[in-house]
Amino acid sequence: MLQTALHFSHTLLKESIAEGDTVVDATMGNGNDTVFLAELVGPNGIVYAFDVQEQALTNTTKKLTEAGLSDHVQLFHQGHETIETTLTKETTVAAAIFNLGYLPKSDKQIITTPNTTKQALEALLLRLKNKGRIILVVYYGHTGGEAELAFVQDYCQALPQESYSVLTYQFINQRNNPPILFCIEKK
Ligand code: SAM
Repeated sequence: MLQTALHFSHTLLKESIAEGDTVVDATMGNGNDTVFLAELVGPNGIVYAFDVQEQALTNTTKKLTEAGLSDHVQLFHQGHETIETTLTKETTVAAAIFNLGYLPKSDKQIITTPNTTKQALEALLLRLKNKGRIILVVYYGHTGGEAELAFVQDYCQALPQESYSVLTYQFINQRNNPPILFCIEKK
């Protein structure tokens, strides 16, 4: 069966991450991706995870503790627009994941926005290693979602093909705006 965008995002991450790597979860939320990344990089790697909501940090801390993965994860109660000032310029990132939209079962007004997503992408592209990947899973059914999708589409399409390969993955015959995946791979 074809993988959902969410499932496919994990397949793409798995292929590009090795033990000991440094990776970023740009939208921690309930911590599902943070835990997945922490498992992939292992005890010698490091995961940096960002979210603007206290609830996200609480939920993610709980998941990491239960899985015994807290040691090599740094959670930041900060927007991903602070990646540039939080990660040193020398940091090399093997992969990063964004789940754009709002936190399920939470305040639907707190959403990711094109401006902060752009700042985060720029900071990550500067630090992405060769063959590294940035994956964006874009939920766009909510107010503001279409604008963010348009931004991501335009931004990705404008990346020079000499330096990056960019993939999109979406189901085009499904109801209820299933998420669309974008994957930027540095050549
Ligand atoms: N990946 C998450 C998971 O496994 O549960 C789901 C992420 S949810 C779709 C989007 C998250 O982005 C929300 O938790 C929201 O608080 C967060 N967010 C909104 N603006 C943000 C920003 N500027 N920086 C980082 N996270 C932000």
